[in-house]
Amino acid sequence: MKKIAILGSTGSIGFSSVDVIRNLEHDFKITALTVNTKIELLLPQIKEFNPEVVAVRDRAKAAELRKLVDCTVLEGDEGLIELAATADYDIFIGAMVGFSGLAPTLEAIKRGKRIALANKETLVVAGELVTQLCEKYGAELLPVDSEHSAVFQSLSSEQSSNIKKIILTASGGPFFKVDKNEFNSITVEQALNHPTWKMGAKISIDSATMMNKGLEVIEAKWLFNVACSQIEVVIHPQSVIHSMVEFIDGSVKAQLSVPDMKLPIQYALTYPGRMPANFVNNNFPKIGTLTFFEPDMSKFECLGLAFESLKTGGTAPCIINAANEIAVEKFLNKQISFSRIPGIIKDCLNKIENHKTPCLETIFETDRLTRELALGLT
Ligand code: MG
Repeated sequence: MKKIAILGSTGSIGFSSVDVIRNLEHDFKITALTVNTKIELLLPQIKEFNPEVVAVRDRAKAAELRKLVDCTVLEGDEGLIELAATADYDIFIGAMVGFSGLAPTLEAIKRGKRIALANKETLVVAGELVTQLCEKYGAELLPVDSEHSAVFQSLSSEQSSNIKKIILTASGGPFFKVDKNEFNSITVEQALNHPTWKMGAKISIDSATMMNKGLEVIEAKWLFNVACSQIEVVIHPQSVIHSMVEFIDGSVKAQLSVPDMKLPIQYALTYPGRMPANFVNNNFPKIGTLTFFEPDMSKFECLGLAFESLKTGGTAPCIINAANEIAVEKFLNKQISFSRIPGIIKDCLNKIENHKTPCLETIFETDRLTRELALGLT
C-alpha cells in the first residue's frame, strides 16, 4: 500500500489524480490533500478518502473547514509547506498551479520521496537547484506532464548519451490556424476553448499562447539533462503522439495514446510497473491521420521567449514565468489583450536583472520583483 499526498487536489490534475487512485484503490491510499480555496470541493474528498491532514492556502476558508471535519487542517503557504514536510506519504503529487508549488515540493524532495510532478513551474524557475537536491536527497522525480511522461517512457532502457534530440509535440492550441493580425481581438472565452485537452484556466491560456510548450521545453532540459539545442517542438494537432526521442542512429521512439491526463498520472504512481486502466480506448482507424507542422515562432512569440530564456539561463526562466503568470491573470480579468501577453514578458526580461547562478533566495526575490513590475504594466 502506497500513501499519497496530493497538493492541489481540486484542480484539473488533482481531480484526475483522485480518479486514478479511486480506480487503483487497493494499492494506493490518500493521506494528505491541499487546496487553494475550494473547500466545497475538498469536503467530499475528505469524506471519501479520510486523509490524516489537509491544508488550505486561504486562511478564512481553512477556519471554515475546521468546523466541518475531524482531520487536521493546516493553513496558508506555511500550512502547505508543513504538510509536505511532516505528513505521512510515499508519493507526493505536485498538482498545484504556478510558482507557489516550489516551496512544498522542495520539502518533499528533502525527505527523499517520489515526486510525481505536474507543477512545471518548479522546474522552470529552479530546475538546476531542484535536480541537484533530488540527487542529494535521493528523491525520485517523475514527470506527470504528458509530453515529459512520453519522453520518460521512450527513454526507458536507453542511455542518455545516445539521445540526439527530444521532440516535444504541441497541439498548436486553439489559434494554430488563426492569422496573427487577428490575435488582438481574441477573447478570453475563445482562448479557454482548447481543441484536444480539457484543462484549468491558466494552462489553457498558456496553450493558446504556446507559452505552455515553452515552459515544457525548459522542464525537459532539467528532467532529461540535455542541451537547449537538443530540444525541438513540432505541432501535432491530434495530440496522439505525446512526444518523441530521436537517437544518434536516427531511430525515433514515441509514446502514443488518446489524450487523457490520467495515463501519465497513473504511470508516475505505478512506475516501473503498469496497471490496467479502463479510461483509455485507442482506436487508430478512428484517429485516421497524424499530421505534423513546424511552429511559427513569429506568431507564437511566447515560445521563442521561452527558448531564449533557457539559452540566457540564470534567472531568465524565473522572470518569464512570473511575468507570464501575471500577464495571463490580467488577460483572464480582461485588463489586457491576448496579443499583449508576450509584450509584458519582454518588458520584464529587459528590466529585471538576471542572476547567473541564483540561490533559492535570489529566485524568490526575482519572482517577487518581476510580479511587482508586471502588475504595474498595461
Ligand atoms: Mg503538457
